[in-house]
Amino acid sequence: MSAATTPASSGLSHSPQLTDSHGRTIHDLRVSITDRCNYKCIYCRTGKAGAQYPELENEEYLHLIRLFVALGISKVRLTGGEPLLRRGVVELLQELAQLRTPAGKRLDLALTTNGHLLESLAGALKDAGLNRVTVSMDAVDAATFERITRVPGSFDEVLKGIRAARAQGLTPLKVNCVLLRGFNDDQIEGFVRFAREEDVVVRFIEFMPLEEERLWSPGMVVPLKEIVERIGRTMPLVDLAPREAGETARRYTFTDGAGEIGIIAPVSQAFCGACSRVRLTSDGKIRTCLFSQVEHDLYGRLRGGADDTELSAYIVRTVNGKEARHHIGEPGFLKPSRSMVHIGG
Ligand code: SAM
Repeated sequence: MSAATTPASSGLSHSPQLTDSHGRTIHDLRVSITDRCNYKCIYCRTGKAGAQYPELENEEYLHLIRLFVALGISKVRLTGGEPLLRRGVVELLQELAQLRTPAGKRLDLALTTNGHLLESLAGALKDAGLNRVTVSMDAVDAATFERITRVPGSFDEVLKGIRAARAQGLTPLKVNCVLLRGFNDDQIEGFVRFAREEDVVVRFIEFMPLEEERLWSPGMVVPLKEIVERIGRTMPLVDLAPREAGETARRYTFTDGAGEIGIIAPVSQAFCGACSRVRLTSDGKIRTCLFSQVEHDLYGRLRGGADDTELSAYIVRTVNGKEARHHIGEPGFLKPSRSMVHIGG
């Protein structure tokens, strides 16, 4: 057995299962592999070029991810910034596909992308071992879409990317749309048709205060209740059971069973009690919540010479201290120390 297929060693003797002090099991790791992006979505980035935080080498990401896997992480999602801009993303996935959980299982490997480079990469990503992809797409109307991304021609590229990913079997293919009142809330009905026609799962996401600029206000959030009512006026929605415990999206289909809609409502109906995630930023810091005020410098410890036993113990301690919940909308709420594009969405 090669080193890559050997279940990674945590150096700990107890059964590997990351938990926090609020009784949640953590099995989902999101890894940002760059904070660069080729889009300038109005609700996310200012549009400054280049990375603001350093990127690690592939071997360094792998080293850290292996430690998490040995501790019970079974799902790894690559994100960014835009992960498909990262050199060596296919090779990184190939390596991740060789990892096994302590129970000997393959990882569930997913990727979140804006889809711009997906058409040319979908086949290689699938061959490398990627299971699923989520594409961000905030409008089904090209002009509205490009007003949001601020990149001419982006709509056609994303559409081609979605179709290529679906053709490669990177399914269920999820399309995430962040709804902003006054910008794209007129797209809801169009997305319902899109989900049914393109055979993708469209998920509406409530806008969170995670942008680089100050745009967010409670009034800009289109809440779950309103989305359900809007869709229900033309097409009655039928509830679907969660696919897995701790699923963040409420799932719906239609009376004829064609098409699936999800709604992720972190603002109006927070799901922190079921959160099973932690994040690793592109510069190797652990974030235990999107809204954390502190980061935990795992990579700094690796560079400082900590061995795997020490790093694993640090991960266990850090995850144990995961915040109970976020405080969006409450008096005294503070935006996190980084915005979404620099955390890894
Ligand atoms: N570039 C990739 C993409 O576009 O999917 C991955 C990174 S992007 C930051 C990840 C997700 O975060 C996207 O679906 C994006 O729409 C979402 N996002 C960014 N800012 C957000 C905000 N303030 N509220 C809710 N979602 C946000």
